[in-house]
Order: sequence, then C-alpha cells, then structure tokens
Amino acid sequence: MGPHTPRILCLIVVICAAAAAAAHPPARVFTQSARVLGADGREIPAVEIDPESLDGLTELTFDLGAGRRLRLRTDLPADRLAGADALAARVRRCYAHLEAATGRRVAGGVLLYVLGFDPPPRAYACRAVLDDGAAWSQVRLALIGPGETLSGPRVSPHLDELLLDTLPHELGHHLLDARPTVRQDLDGRPPAGTRWFVEGVCESLAKAFAAREDPEAARGLLALRGVERVMSRPTVRGRLLGWHAGAPLSPDLESDVYGAALLVVRVWEAARPLPSLLAGLAATGGDHDGGALLGMLREDTGLEVVEVMERAAALGRRLLAPRPRELSVRSLPHTKTGGPPWGEPPAPQSVGARP
Ligand SMILES: [Zn+2]
Repeated sequence: MGPHTPRILCLIVVICAAAAAAAHPPARVFTQSARVLGADGREIPAVEIDPESLDGLTELTFDLGAGRRLRLRTDLPADRLAGADALAARVRRCYAHLEAATGRRVAGGVLLYVLGFDPPPRAYACRAVLDDGAAWSQVRLALIGPGETLSGPRVSPHLDELLLDTLPHELGHHLLDARPTVRQDLDGRPPAGTRWFVEGVCESLAKAFAAREDPEAARGLLALRGVERVMSRPTVRGRLLGWHAGAPLSPDLESDVYGAALLVVRVWEAARPLPSLLAGLAATGGDHDGGALLGMLREDTGLEVVEVMERAAALGRRLLAPRPRELSVRSLPHTKTGGPPWGEPPAPQSVGARP
C-alpha cells in the first residue's frame, strides 16, 4: 500500500460524491408571497415563512394515480387533519378536470404546505429549498386560521381559493409549458403577443373547475375578474392582445385583462373545444406567435377580432346575469360559514409564481 493509500482514498471520495449527485436532483427553490398595501398606501411588513425549517411537520401523502402524489406538510395537530381526505379528493377531481378539458396528462404531483396561524398574516413571504422539488408540478402554501378546517363548510378561505382557482390555473400553465405550442415572453425575447391566450386558457380551466365544485364560489371568482364589465372598458380591449410580461399593468387593469382573456378564449372554445385547439396548435408546430393565434381564432370562429370581442362582452354579461332561482335562494338564511372572502379587497399579488 504505502504511498498509494491516500490516492485511493481520494478516489473513493470522488465516486461517493458523484453517486450522491446522481441520486439527488438539484434542489429547487419555492417562493410564494402576498404583498398588501396599508391604509396609508405603504406596503405592510410581510411575515417571513420557511416551512422546511419548521420542526415536527406532519406529512400526509395521497395517491393521485399514474405515479403522482399529493403531499401535505402541515403543523396542524392530528385532530385538525380530519378534512384531509376530502381535500385530496378535490385535488384528484382537479387533475381529472384538467385532463378532460385539455386532452393532456398532468405529469407531476402537488406539494402543499398547510400552516396554522392565529390570525393568518395578510402579507407574507414564503421561501423553501426543496430537495425533492422535481416530483412536484405545483408547490403551494395555504394559511389556515384557528377554527378553520381543511375542507367542508368551515374551510380556510385561503385554502379554498387555492384549490378552486389557483391550483387549476397554475397546473394549466404546467400543462401548456410541458408541450409548448405558443411562443412565450421569455427573458431577452421580444413580446410574442400570446399572453392573452396562455392566461385565458388557464383562467378558463380554473373557472370551469370552480363552477363544477362550487357554483356560488365560481360566480364570486368571475365577479372578482369583473367579467360583466371588462369588455366595455376601452383600455382593456386596447391592451389585451399586446399584453406581455415585460410591461406590467396596474393591478386593477391587469385583473380586468385576465377577465377579458378568459372571455375571448371562451368564445374561441365555443367554436372549437380546447383539446382540438391544443392538438391543432401542436400539429402545426410549437412556436406560434400572437398573429398566428389570431389567424386561427378568425378561422375557427368565422369572426373578425372585433366581433370576437363583442361576443366576449355578451358572454361576460351572461355569466353573471341573475339566475331565475336566485330570488328564492337569496331569501333563505345564509348557512355557509367561512367561504372565500369575496367581499374583501383584490387578492394579494402572488410573487415568484405567475398569478
Ligand atoms: Zn397565469
């Protein structure tokens, strides 16, 4: 052995390091935050949250089929985990909805942190470094207040909105990104003019899922987007088709543009269902820009863009028109407690993930 021993040792160390690197994909950083302006117009301080630094989190894992899992990491005590099965069932229905509505398969699972607060902070900044990040299509944080539950009539409004709206919207992005068919606004590239389509598809998927799960909540989500009035706002019509990530709009205008994108995509979907539309885009190449999309929109609907906008305006009014049954429903006592805070100011902006 003699003089060779140190060299062998060194070699072994290198092999171990290589094996370790192969066994562990690179860590992924997850961020989610909510920024809130106070009455004085200044941003209120955010509570910093690092869920992976918390000791003793309970981990619950649910099968989503096809090798995919929903994992909850939570600091709630065992007696507050009763609604976890119903929560998982809703996520399963979300996957089924997205796959039926797009004709595509969602590839990965969902990691959901559920953390208890008394009361939940309105402004927060969450950051977690994940060793198992590659397994998840979506990583999300839900804040849950005292007395709130994981599902049912006393569900945390934050969690409820996340599952009804945010999750299907973001998984929609995941589906579109997994098989790119349109050019997106990426760093250093000129605006592609496709954002209205991408966000419109994700909004359409999300609002349709919410409508299946909870029609009353879905109406609230549509009202938040102002669908009954956005198309009569000339600025919205003017900005919609050129909307891009490099030129942020004011939060108020941006929310309206989301609503307009949803309506225009719905008009297109009425003429050509989404699975056929996405398959058509994939079949004709993966790099369509806004001009190509508008050409297809005209062809599929037989309408000029200005006529599509008129139809979208009418659709928006129809979606929120009072329903015949509504009068009798309204006269009943309101039994639902702890629903989403529809009456509150616009939802905080999510940073680090697309809204
Ligand atoms: Zn989006």
